[in-house]
Amino acid sequence: MNSYVSSVMNDLKTRYPWEKEFLQAAEEVLDSLTPIIDREPKYKANKILERIVEPERVLMFRVPWVDDKGEFQVNRGFRVQYNSAIGPYKGGIRFHPNVTLSTLKFLGFEQIFKNSLTGLPMGGGKGGADFNPNGKSANEVMRFCQSFMTELFRHIGPDTDVPAGDIGVGGREVAYMFGQYKRLANEFTGVLTGKGLNFGGSLIRPEATGFGVVYFAEEMLKTRGESLKGKKVAVSGFGNVAWGAASKANDLGAKVVAISGPDGSVYDKDGVSGEKIDFMLEMRASGRDKVQDYADKFKGVEFHAGKRPWIFPVDVALPCAIQNELNLEDAQTLLNNGCQCVVEGANMPSTLDAVKLFVEKKTLYAPGKASNAGGVATSGLEMSQNSMRLGWSREEVDTRLHQIMVNIHSSCVKAAKEYGHEGNYVLGANIAGFKKVADAMIDQGLV
Ligand code: GLU
Repeated sequence: MNSYVSSVMNDLKTRYPWEKEFLQAAEEVLDSLTPIIDREPKYKANKILERIVEPERVLMFRVPWVDDKGEFQVNRGFRVQYNSAIGPYKGGIRFHPNVTLSTLKFLGFEQIFKNSLTGLPMGGGKGGADFNPNGKSANEVMRFCQSFMTELFRHIGPDTDVPAGDIGVGGREVAYMFGQYKRLANEFTGVLTGKGLNFGGSLIRPEATGFGVVYFAEEMLKTRGESLKGKKVAVSGFGNVAWGAASKANDLGAKVVAISGPDGSVYDKDGVSGEKIDFMLEMRASGRDKVQDYADKFKGVEFHAGKRPWIFPVDVALPCAIQNELNLEDAQTLLNNGCQCVVEGANMPSTLDAVKLFVEKKTLYAPGKASNAGGVATSGLEMSQNSMRLGWSREEVDTRLHQIMVNIHSSCVKAAKEYGHEGNYVLGANIAGFKKVADAMIDQGLV
């Protein structure tokens, strides 16, 4: 880090000492911006780093709702409108009991660079609540979503801020929030993405993040004259991202041998394919939250209680669960077992020391902000379809998504090379994502 970068980082540490996840995300980005900050004095002269680390606006609000027993409940809701230099704020909503402002600042900050990398006009934002949807009835979830939107609706809009799903928020929750927005605003607009197909949603959106991760992995492997064909893959996570990734990895000829859930991991030497992929969705829909169900259902499958899937020998690892799910020890185990490619489907799943190790060992390692951008990119495509009041075919959306992932890959490779760190996707992604936003901020003056 040069002195300007480290002084901004130190200020953040002093100002927000309790925001651990946000500081982790900021450190990763700021550290890798050093080469561009060194080369281009305009960023320091315009105090771009001091400005970009602070959200343009943070909303915090009470979310009161009534449970099925008639008891009053209260949760905390947030929306971090981080940066609108290149487009309306855009990013998902997370419902998870561990959500704090720090979580949403880290996610919103990542989203600025991710959205910029897609090449689409989207700023960065993120929202959520410390609400645990697990074990809640559909009516409880609906009442919660309606209450959440009753406050949020006045702060968002198709040209202002366009939320979507994230952990704990899928098609059902987006639909409830959309219904409430429409009722309050008296407007049918593309204010949310990830909508149902009957009311403005885009084909491919549910599987887009996972598809994009695998398209990105394929591009990375190509740089070493390889492909996914015949590679053994481990995927973590119990949601749409893991499911989309497992399904596309199969399409491209890879063998998914390990998947995980909240209770542990399974190793399936025959590969997770065909009906087993559909079963991934069924396990989720059942609400039991147990990947052990997979080992109980299919023959020859090992279940490892409480273990992450990084203990198995694989060629490619796709962490698609949650932040900090892959630590230094896991990284070491993966590398010792011959893993050569780690492509993130979740946001910040690898800890900082794990990332350092991957970069040091020249592993093909992609940070989530590049490799999981296919989800928000397809949200961007949903926004375009909504503005035109048209719907594209599956093929059309998939072709665009694929092209966007290929473009993100080449932007990362190009920026890393230009700034003297060939093959470093962390540096490439951060610099390429940053440059466009920072230049737009400078062009727009001190705002
Ligand atoms: N939550 C997703 C992400 O982390 C998607 C956001 C969106 O579609 O707006 O990028």
